[in-house]
Amino acid sequence: MDIKSIIDKIYETSEATIDEITAILASKETDYLFSVADHTRKEYCKDKIHLRGIIEFSNYCRCECLYCGIRCHNRSLQRYRMELDEIVETAKAAYEIGYKTIILQSGEDLWYTREKISSLIRRIKALGDVAITLSLGERDYEDYKQWKQDGADRYLLKHETADEDLYNRLHPHSSFKKRLQCLRWLKKLGYQPGSGFMIGLPGQNLTTIAKDILLLKELDVDMAGIGPFLPHPATPLGENHAGSGLLTLKALAVARILLKRTHLPATTALEVQNRNNRENAFHAGANVIMRKVQASKYRQLYDIYPKKSIVEKDLKQEKAEIESYIQKIGRQIADDRGDAIPLI
Ligand code: SF4
Repeated sequence: MDIKSIIDKIYETSEATIDEITAILASKETDYLFSVADHTRKEYCKDKIHLRGIIEFSNYCRCECLYCGIRCHNRSLQRYRMELDEIVETAKAAYEIGYKTIILQSGEDLWYTREKISSLIRRIKALGDVAITLSLGERDYEDYKQWKQDGADRYLLKHETADEDLYNRLHPHSSFKKRLQCLRWLKKLGYQPGSGFMIGLPGQNLTTIAKDILLLKELDVDMAGIGPFLPHPATPLGENHAGSGLLTLKALAVARILLKRTHLPATTALEVQNRNNRENAFHAGANVIMRKVQASKYRQLYDIYPKKSIVEKDLKQEKAEIESYIQKIGRQIADDRGDAIPLI
């Protein structure tokens, strides 16, 4: 089968094999791939882009992920924790200017106990009709269960790579099996689960990426972040090459054609790597964008991968800029919360 026929088959059946995905990723023919992905996005997600406000409230982390700049062994990083009142005030400010989803993200920081996170969820939900996505890493089943009861809507926990050996090498503090177990708990508890993975991890190949995409389907996630690996100099992988932006866009496009209704962001890592990638992602299947809403003094310190220095801007001004950009590319900001897209 030629590449166009494979793409058509995946679009028609929503099924794919490892070999089919690998062939698409290896092919230089990208125009047809991106046009089918864009068509699929329009069919299932319309022209709406969901804007999510993310509060990165702590850069303390107990984990040792070999690629991450805020891993516990990076002693050169200045650490911060936002107070609960400050987090709620930040969420309130974002909600009042129109953010309908607040993502609460941090390293795996157990200073924020089950009770503290519960209190945060309840206080933010009391602001109005706002969705909460948690992105707090691997926690106990009872934590996840309590936070769902408190009103959390979604949970983002990227699987990072579907290659079990590679996963275990990159995450010495945990295991691939534990990661999958957490993702399955989240699904069972009724969260809208999110996962995702990186392109360009040392030791990864196209077969791994095909497995990554198929794992998203198997886990039946409602959102998935696909971004390039960006080496951070203060990590053991600091000397490696960054992942390819083009390959990331191709993986995103295949994910859209296969998964249909999953929310797929134009990831920040893709945008940091190359500003044009943001627009390219919106033409390759993406329908979501996230904006940091915590104070500028914290943004630079949430240093998972290297980025340009942060320019101090007012929250409203930032939102107006992103709205104007979205209009410029012919899309509109969605006016709903952007929950899981139902099957049609
Ligand atoms: S990737 Fe997440 S869990 Fe791993 S070190 Fe970074 S913040 Fe911690």
